[in-house]
Amino acid sequence: VDPLVYPIHECPWPVTSPAPYSFLVHTLTVLVNTRSRIAILDVLTNTLRCLILYHPTSLLPALYLLSNSLSPAYSPLELGIGASVISRAIRHVSGLTSGALRRLYNSSGDPGDVAFEAKSNVRTLVAHPPLLIEDVYQSMLKIAYIKGQGTARQKQSIVERLLVAARGEETRFLVRTLSQNLRVGAVRTSILTALARALVLSPPPNPSIPIPSDSSLHVTPHFVVSIQPSSGKQKKNNDPQHNELLLKFANAEALVKQVYVQHPNYDHIVAGVIAGGLDGLPTRVPLTVGIPLHPTLGSPARSLDEIYERLNDMPFTAEFKYDGQRAQIHASKVVGGFPSVHIFSRHLENMTDKYPDVVSLVRSMFAKASYLQSFIIDSEIVAIDPDDGGLRSFQDLSNRARKDVEIRDIKVPVCVFAFDLMYLDGEIFLERSFRERRELLRTRFPALTPASVEPGTALFAHVNSCESSQGRKCIEAFWKEAVESRCEGLMIKLLDNVENITTHHSGKTRKRPLPATYEPDKRTSAWLKLKKDYVDGLGDTLDLVPVGAWHGNGRKAGWWSPVLLAVWDPTKDRLIAVCKCMSGKIHCTITYAASNPTFISSLVKVWEIRGADITLSPVSLAALGQVSSTRGLSLRFPRFVRVREDTRPEHASTTQFLAQMYRDQQSRGKGTTGADDGD
Ligand code: ATP
Repeated sequence: VDPLVYPIHECPWPVTSPAPYSFLVHTLTVLVNTRSRIAILDVLTNTLRCLILYHPTSLLPALYLLSNSLSPAYSPLELGIGASVISRAIRHVSGLTSGALRRLYNSSGDPGDVAFEAKSNVRTLVAHPPLLIEDVYQSMLKIAYIKGQGTARQKQSIVERLLVAARGEETRFLVRTLSQNLRVGAVRTSILTALARALVLSPPPNPSIPIPSDSSLHVTPHFVVSIQPSSGKQKKNNDPQHNELLLKFANAEALVKQVYVQHPNYDHIVAGVIAGGLDGLPTRVPLTVGIPLHPTLGSPARSLDEIYERLNDMPFTAEFKYDGQRAQIHASKVVGGFPSVHIFSRHLENMTDKYPDVVSLVRSMFAKASYLQSFIIDSEIVAIDPDDGGLRSFQDLSNRARKDVEIRDIKVPVCVFAFDLMYLDGEIFLERSFRERRELLRTRFPALTPASVEPGTALFAHVNSCESSQGRKCIEAFWKEAVESRCEGLMIKLLDNVENITTHHSGKTRKRPLPATYEPDKRTSAWLKLKKDYVDGLGDTLDLVPVGAWHGNGRKAGWWSPVLLAVWDPTKDRLIAVCKCMSGKIHCTITYAASNPTFISSLVKVWEIRGADITLSPVSLAALGQVSSTRGLSLRFPRFVRVREDTRPEHASTTQFLAQMYRDQQSRGKGTTGADDGD
């Protein structure tokens, strides 16, 4: 069955049977062999359509198998199967000796390819019934759930059963799935987009909730999503029916993604779509206490000037950017029991076992504020000093074990700094402005900061903040205070929705709305992070020489930006490029656009530059060989400080000086702060 050319009005397998695994494997084979996003979406869309129409119970297992997972990311199920179990199973089923198998491994390296090769010579006398999508997924679940004595042997026997039944390409993908390396480019966004399109084109046939007629669009065969990989982007054309379909796609994609980022659980989403298609999906699969939503993320800003410019002087608040671990706290009262509490990380891992002190703090909040029923808040957990309550570094927090922490073993107390409220007592607040959410957070959640803090006790406080209405001087003083208090810098947050904000992009000035709502999974421009690393990371400045520049775009039109800066290499008596600086403002007098920089002979001066840190760079040739034989050094986030009229290019910072700064920085352990993997 070829989902690429398959006419969708026919079931690609005997219609009375469940969906075979070979159907999914065909899709996987096509996906592995294309890099075209359009082709990937087309294939996925048609695959999901077939499942929705002809065997909806296979839809959920197919989504998990396509995304190389068995369960939602926030409650991961591991197969717990080692390479040796898979190898033994392949050997058993194929009859190959371990030497022959090793030779296959040496020549291909991929366990799926090895299994395919090993099995290709095996002749099966008795035909096995075809593997089913549901079957394969259930077997994976079984493997994951086997615990205790004799685990490896039991797991191996399930793998063998699957391998015996697998035919052709099925073997390859089965083993790739078992080794957790599917090598398929079907990422989350493609899967969600395809699911949305499939639901537009082929709404579930018998939903228990009737679908209004406008969403059961009848699609003529030529409308079956552009099937040829070469068909180009789905663009509007003169055909109103085609354009109507594109609009439906866009709306459905936004809806499915919105549901997923607020409730990332395929089990619930599939149940929701089977029950009623796209209509009313957010109501059937809503934001739920106990299920983490994808968090809002901030965009980097380099200076307060930039922040005032980007927010067009709209009211904002500046908050301490604490150096701890992000924690999404879900809690609800339980009749006759302790309140249930879940704590999730920025990447949605369940961290409840890591923070029993925070769990007990949250339970005591219910006791103190008896009106609270259930809530979801966003916060940063920060280590604090038990003596004076001062903030401690992320390092102090990171020493804590990740799992099964006992309160009595906790050495460093923590404070939960709450900064957002997404849900309270049955009401979702994502659509409210930050000003409203913050007001509720402040009034409904009293601070809990006892006078003496023992390790094992957790505190609850609201973030330290300063308003733009207090004036720029105040914000500047607050920035200093944040930096001096072991914070990473400031988070600047827009308070109210703005209907029209001026932005500059690709040389064009545009007006666009900027919402101050909670935006799951978005790096929003309504949250700007100003980190001290960006602004003054290195204590020392460098004297660098501007040697070239590119013609600025957008906000930088009319200016040189970026400017290429160089250090002095005394061993060769020449300047050597080290980094590009975005912030040195020099009016550009020549109109010149090219991908190579223009040499600026009139500007051969020395600039004082401050950077965040010095990094090893695969492209820079500066100080190559002094720290690493393959990498030169570069400066991250260089910022212009002033022109140094008092010196000359040949007295600029040298490559040796740069290498020494790098060594000093490494010995200070720079780069070890920061809770998460970040950008
Ligand atoms: P970074 O590596 O800069 O922490 P990130 O990609 O983890 O970035 P961003 O949203 O870009 O996340 O930056 C905000 C992060 O800063 C949050 O994830 C949170 O952990 C932390 N943080 C500390 N204080 C605050 C605050 N007052 N408001 C929001 N986030 C805060």
